[in-house]
Amino acid sequence: MIRLTSYLAGRWFAGSGRFVSLVDPSTEEVLAEASSEGADFGAALQHAREVGAPALRALSFADRAALLKDLAKILHGHREELLDLAQKNGGNTRGDAKFDVDGAIGTLSAYASFGESLAKRVGDRRFLTDGDMFPLTRSPRFVGQHVWVPRTGVAVHINAFNFPAWGTFEKAAVALLAGIPIISKPATATALLTWRMTQVLVESGRLPEGSFQLVVGSTGDLLSRLGPQDHLAFTGSNATGAQLRATPGFASKSVRVTVEADSLNAAVAGPDVEPGSDLWNTFVRNIVTDMTQKTGQKCTAIRRVFVPEAHADALQEALAEALSGIVIGNPLTDGVTMGPVSTASQLRDALAGIRALSEHATVVCGGADRLDGKGAPAGKGYYVAPTVLRAADAAKAGPVHDLEVFGPVVTILPYDGTADSAAALVALGQGSLVASAVSDDRAWVERFALGAAPFLGRLMLLSSKVADQATAPGLVLPSMIHGGPGRAGGGEELGGERGLLFYMQRTALQGDSAVIGKAFAAKDPAAS
Ligand code: NAP
Repeated sequence: MIRLTSYLAGRWFAGSGRFVSLVDPSTEEVLAEASSEGADFGAALQHAREVGAPALRALSFADRAALLKDLAKILHGHREELLDLAQKNGGNTRGDAKFDVDGAIGTLSAYASFGESLAKRVGDRRFLTDGDMFPLTRSPRFVGQHVWVPRTGVAVHINAFNFPAWGTFEKAAVALLAGIPIISKPATATALLTWRMTQVLVESGRLPEGSFQLVVGSTGDLLSRLGPQDHLAFTGSNATGAQLRATPGFASKSVRVTVEADSLNAAVAGPDVEPGSDLWNTFVRNIVTDMTQKTGQKCTAIRRVFVPEAHADALQEALAEALSGIVIGNPLTDGVTMGPVSTASQLRDALAGIRALSEHATVVCGGADRLDGKGAPAGKGYYVAPTVLRAADAAKAGPVHDLEVFGPVVTILPYDGTADSAAALVALGQGSLVASAVSDDRAWVERFALGAAPFLGRLMLLSSKVADQATAPGLVLPSMIHGGPGRAGGGEELGGERGLLFYMQRTALQGDSAVIGKAFAAKDPAAS
C-alpha cells in the first residue's frame, strides 16, 4: 500500500491520523492512502514567500520559459508510467489518460512558448506594460503609464478529481511564468498521479526551491492564513467554490480568488443543418465524444443539446446508435471504450442525477442503474451507462438547466429553431464554460452568438468550412481563456498571456516622462 506524502517547505511530509483511501474505480481495489494531518502550513507559506517568490521573481521571462520547457520534458520522460497511473487511479481509457497527462505536458510547453514571445518583446524586464504612455495634463512632461508587476505572495491551487495532471499543471504553468510560487492541492481521491508527477519534478532538481509545494489531503488552516498578496485558484463544484470564497479573512484582506465550477454546457444545431450532412455528423460526433471521453467527467462536456423540433427524432436515433457501440468496463481490458466514473460518490451522484432529470425528461437510452463493467469483478466498479434523455418543453425542463450530472449524460431539448430562442435557452444554464453551435446560416450565427455570449466563457461556432479542422468544443486550449460567468464560477484561466494577469498587480504610474518613459514605457517590439 502506497502512503502518499505532501511536499512542504522543501521536504516530504507524512501525515497521521485519519487516512483517506484512493481506489481503482474499475475494481474498487485500494491503491493508496493519504493524510495531511499535522502539516505545518504556516511554515509552507513562509517557505513559498521567503524562498520561492524571490527565486522566481529573480528569473527573467526567458528563464521562466526555459524552466517550463524543462518541466515539460522531464514529465514527458516519465509519460508511460504516468499514463499507467492515470488509468489505475482515474478509471481512464488510454485515450482519456493521454488527454490528461499530455494536456499537462502540452500546456507547460505552450506557456514556455508564450514566455519566449514575451521575453522577445520585453527583454530582461520583469513586468508588463498596459497600453502606451500618455500626457495627463497640458504639459507633455507629466505622463501616465499603466504597468503590471508580479505580486509578492503565493498561489494556492485547489483542483477537481477529474484532471489530476492537466488541472495541476495548467494552473502551475501560468503562475510560474508570472513568477508566483505554488502550493497545489489535488482532489484526494485521484491524487496518486499528481503526487508521482511532483515526485518526478522534485527529484529532477529543476524546480527552484520553494516554487512548488504539494498538499495531499486536507488544507487544514492553509486558506485562513492567506494574505493580501496571495491567490486562490479553485476548480471544483460550485458549492465548494462558494464555501471557499467565504473563508474568514478573504473579503477583508482582498485575497484574490478565481473559481472554475460546474457548468451546463450546450450544443446547438441551427435550423439549416440537415440530418446526415457533414455538419450534422460533426454535431453528433462532438456530443458522443463529450459523453464518453473521461466518462463524461469533463467540466466542459456538453450536457444540454438544443435541436430544431423537426430534427429531434433524427438526433435521438443517431445518438442511440452511436452509443450502442460503446463498450463499458475496466479500461485495461481489450475492447473497452469507456471506463467507470472516478469515485463511489460520483457514481451515487450521477445515478441520483439521472433519476432527478428523468422526472422532467424521458430516458431514451441508458438509465439510472449501476452496471457491471467488462473485465471487472461482478458488483465492483463505478459503471454508468451513457444516458440520453429528451425533454418535451425545452424552456420548462427544470433541473436540466440547473443540475450538472457529472457523467455520461445529455438531454435533448427540441426548440423552435430561431437564434433568439437558442440564445435564451443557453442562458437558462445561468452561466457556462462553453457552448457550440453548428450552422452555415451566417445571419443566424451572428444573432445567436451575440445573444448567447454574455452567458458563456467560450463559444465555438462551426460551419461546414471549418467543421473538419476544428478541435472538439470540450478541449481547452492554452491560448484561449477557460472559465465562465455565473454558476461556472466567474473565473478566467489560461488565454495565453491573459492568464498571467491574475497573479500581477496593475499599477498606474504618474510622473515625469523622462523617468517613466525610460524605465516603464511600452517597448517598441521592433526595437527589442
Ligand atoms: P469538489 O468536491 O468541489 O472538490 C474540489 C476540490 O476542492 C478538491 O480538491 C477537494 O479536496 C477540495 N475541497 C473540498 N472542500 C474543501 C475545503 N473545505 N477546503 C479546501 N479544499 C476543499 O469537486 P470535485 O468533486 O472534485 O469535482 C467535480 C466538480 O468540479 C464538478 O462540478 C465539475 O464541473 C467541476 N469542475 C470544473 C472545472 C472547470 O474548469 N470549471 C474542471 C473540472 C471540474 P478533497 O478531494 O480532498 O475533498
